[in-house]
Parts: sequence; structure tokens; C-alpha cells
Amino acid sequence: RHSTATAVAASIEEPITPPVKVKYTQLLIDGRFVDSASGKKFKTYDPRTGDVITEVAEGDAEDINRAVSAARKAFDEGPWPRMTAYERSKILLRFADLLEQHTEELAALESWDNGKPYEQAAKIELGFSTRLARYYAGWADKIHGLTVPADGAHHVQTLHEPIGVAGQIIPWNCPILMFVWKVGPALACGNTIVVKTAEQTPLTAFSVAKLLHEAGLPDGVVNVVSGYGPTAGAALASHMNVDKLAFTGSTGTGKLILEMAAKSNLKPVTLELGGKSPFIVCKDADIDDAVEQAHFALFYNQSSSSNPCDLMMVDAIRCYETSTSLSQGQACCAGSRTYVHESVYDEFVEKAKARAIKRVVGDPFRKDVEQGPQVDSEQFEKVMRYIRSGVESGARLETGGERLGSKGYYIRPTVFSDVKEDMLIAQDEIFGPVQTIFKFKDLEEVARKANASKYGLAAAVFTKDIDTANTLSRALRVGTVWVNCYHIVDAAIPFGGYKMSGHGREKGIYSLNNYLQVKAVVTPLKNPAWL
Ligand code: NAD
Repeated sequence: RHSTATAVAASIEEPITPPVKVKYTQLLIDGRFVDSASGKKFKTYDPRTGDVITEVAEGDAEDINRAVSAARKAFDEGPWPRMTAYERSKILLRFADLLEQHTEELAALESWDNGKPYEQAAKIELGFSTRLARYYAGWADKIHGLTVPADGAHHVQTLHEPIGVAGQIIPWNCPILMFVWKVGPALACGNTIVVKTAEQTPLTAFSVAKLLHEAGLPDGVVNVVSGYGPTAGAALASHMNVDKLAFTGSTGTGKLILEMAAKSNLKPVTLELGGKSPFIVCKDADIDDAVEQAHFALFYNQSSSSNPCDLMMVDAIRCYETSTSLSQGQACCAGSRTYVHESVYDEFVEKAKARAIKRVVGDPFRKDVEQGPQVDSEQFEKVMRYIRSGVESGARLETGGERLGSKGYYIRPTVFSDVKEDMLIAQDEIFGPVQTIFKFKDLEEVARKANASKYGLAAAVFTKDIDTANTLSRALRVGTVWVNCYHIVDAAIPFGGYKMSGHGREKGIYSLNNYLQVKAVVTPLKNPAWL
């Protein structure tokens, strides 16, 4: 372990050359890569060093106008919504094949731009994205309305029609996955799309959208605009010609998005927002398993942690048989409040600390690395501020709490025990490699405390008692409860939040409703029903 740690430290000081070149840096509008109307560009940075990777076209309101016009034309005049559903399905299936064929290149680019371990990007997130593309390809020709029994001599049917032009605003933590997660259902339903990528990670969406075109997607159906939130993002959210908006990001931005949608054309909005998910370890839980899973629950996408073979759906599970949990805590559904029963608390804290100390932090292109750097200096500073706040408010810093290496945005895996509900680190989403451990006495108390959050995205219950699992699963006001597991998020499983974690559900059959209008068609029956 010592020699590995040394090698990993060296890899922080001397980053590995990424095995990929940047191909696309322009906006993708109407099937063509173009400069921004203003000619402006912005820099995207390597989180391992803080150095510039490249400059990317900076889209703003004018570019959003161009992209929305292209999407509008592709919807109103183009073949996409008029194509047979089977044709749409075949294009999505070809796209999935291309994602699979380009996994290494896409994962390397994702890792470089975001800082997440290459292994995680390739085996889990690309695997999951491919699965999502195939899943929604399968839905394309299974979307249909109903015939409705009605009084009187009328034939009544419902048509499930695409909603039109969808605006989709995505975050930086899982750029490829978020892109496919959003465009998959919208395309299956026959919509056209403008995606606004996150300014921290603009690179991979261009390549993924290019593959959609190679798969046969007509021009203008998916347009990608890179740029900043208050300019490009706000222009999309408030655009009068956008019929539906889907957003994943922070709760604060989600509120602004809802306001912009309401003040413009009242477009419907789905919101996937932040979380502060409780991970409950009952007195009868298998402690070693709970320690490992709680570590994984929090540190995943902190650039990789303990058990990614359990992570994210079947195909990824099959292809990723290892016992590491990759990432750096940048997951919306991170298990970020670990509640442990008092009878096993001390043992749990000791073991959680030992596990965090063992966590391998280093260059995301190293195969043995579990955790890379945070995405940028802003996130790095934000996490470090929360760590300082935890110490100042009296939580016990068991391990970590400091920067690793002399460059980039690496943070040593951090564990706080003796955390109290009134502390800032107990309430805010830290979005970093900081585990916070609380003590509880009984189920009623832990359910009350777990629910005393403005968020309600996910939760976990670790117990061997089925009644405890059932009681807590029903008591917790969250969109997903994992029992004796964490981060199991298949394409078919709905995902979304209660309370300030968002509106609506994505994935599974639930996502389709977000991208469909229901039209009732009523036709008089001229002849008597019975001859
Ligand atoms: P963010 O809200 O700052 O940014 C997300 C996106 O919104 C980016 O594309 C950004 O450019 C855009 N944006 C920012 N300000 C905007 C504005 N005024 N108008 C329009 N668009 C704007 O969030 P972030 O910090 O980049 O992402 C991390 C957050 O995302 C965390 O809170 C995390 O929990 C959340 N998240 C949620 C889920 C989920 O499914 N619930 C998944 C991943 C991330």
C-alpha cells in the first residue's frame, strides 16, 4: 500500500499525458460545427493541473436563438417527428453501437475535462450511457395512446405526440451520462433538442452529438451550445420557442430556471437538483459491508470509491468486476449523511476512517486510482470551506481535510464524526469527498432526523430486518431508497427527488411522459353503434 501511495503521489506531480486529442470545440447547430455568433471563446481546464486544455466556442443568447431556430425547423418541417418510430429506434440503436465503439476515446476526454477516473468513465458511465440509448431505442415504437370509453355516440382516442423543441441544461459531474440520459427519451418520443452543456466540461457532448449524426440523426434534431449559465442557459430557459425544459444542477439554479420558464411561455419543467441523502446503519447491519457501501455511497464520483461493480445497472455491473469504488463525491445522490446506531457507532467510525485512509487518490488515468481531483478551483475552494466550517463548528476530523499534492484540485478523503444536525456540513450539499457521521438511538429518531432536510433525493437503509427496512423505506421522504445497497440506478429505474431535490422523474417509463403531449380526439359516430 505504501509503494502504491508513493506512486500515486508522484502521478499527481507528474500528470500522465491523456491518450486522446480534442477534436471538436465549436457549437453544433443544424448539423454543423460553427463558431459562436460573437466569435468569443472560453477556456476549459485540466483539473489535475489547472492548466488550459483548450478554448471552446462561447455561446450566448444569439447562439441559443440560432440553435432553437434549427430545432424548431427540424420539428416543424423535418423528418424526425414524422419518421416511423421504428426508424427512430434504429438510429438510437446505431448510436448505442457507436458509443460502445468509441468508449475509450470518449472516456479519456471525459476524464481529462472532468477529473474522474478513466476506469469509472469507461466502464460505468459509458456503459450506462450505452444502456440508456438502447433502452430508449426500445421505447420509440412502443409509445401509444388509448381509446377511451365515453358516453354518447362518439369515438374517443388519445394521441401521444412529441411536445416539440426541448431545452436541456446539464451539469459537469457526469457530462456524457447526463447528455444521453436527457436526449434519449426526448428523441424516442420524436422531439428536437437544444442542449446547453456545463461550462466546466464542454468537450464530450460535441463528440457524442457527432456520433448521433453518424448514426443517421437528421440535421437540427440535436443542437449543442456550450457557454455560461446566466447567458446561454438563461436564454434557453426563457426562450419563447422552447416547448419544454429539463434541468439538472443545483437547487439555487433550479429556482431561477422555474422562474424563467414561468415568466416566458410557461413551458413545463423537470428539475433534477441537489441532495443530502441519509445513509442509515442499523444495529443489526453487517458492519463491514455497511462501512464499504457508505464509503462508496459518499465518495463515488469523488473520482471513484469502493464497489462500482454494484454501481449503475446491469451491463456496467457485468463489465466492471473489481472491488474499488471510483470517484470524488460529486454525485447528487451521494450518501452524504451517514447515520449510525449508537451500539455500533465507535466500530463503524474506526472502520470508515481506515477505509478513507486506504482510498487511492491520484491521476485519473492511472488504473489503480479510486479518486481524482475535484472538477475546478471553485469546487475545490467550496469543499475546503466546508471542511474548515466542520472543524470550526466542533465536528471531529477523523482523517483528511487537506489538499493533496502541489497542483490541481486533489483533496484527501475526509471523514468527520460527532456531526450534529445544526452544523452547516450537516445541512448543505458539499459535493466533495467529505463523509459526515452522526449517531442515533432509535428508528423514530433517525427517520425524523433523516427527513429534517430541505432535500429528498435518496436514502439507504442497512439492516438484516425486513420490517425495519419496510418501515424506514416508507417513512423516508425521498425519491429512491436503497436497502443494503447504494447507487443502483438502472435505465429502467425512475430517478428524481422529493422536496427541493426537484420536480418529476427521469429514466424508465416516467421520462417519456416528460416529452409527450396527450391529445384527445373526439369523433362523432354517424351510424348507430349496433347494426
Ligand atoms: P449549476 O446549477 O451551477 O449548473 C448546472 C447547469 O446550469 C450548468 O449547465 C450551468 O451553466 C447552468 N446554469 C447555471 N446558472 C444558470 C442560470 N442562471 N440560468 C440557466 N442555466 C444556468 O450546478 P453545478 O454546480 O454545475 O452542478 C452540481 C449540482 O447538480 C449539484 O447540486 C448536484 O446535486 C446537482 N446534480 C443533480 C443531479 C440529479 O439528478 N438530481 C445529477 C447531477 C447533479
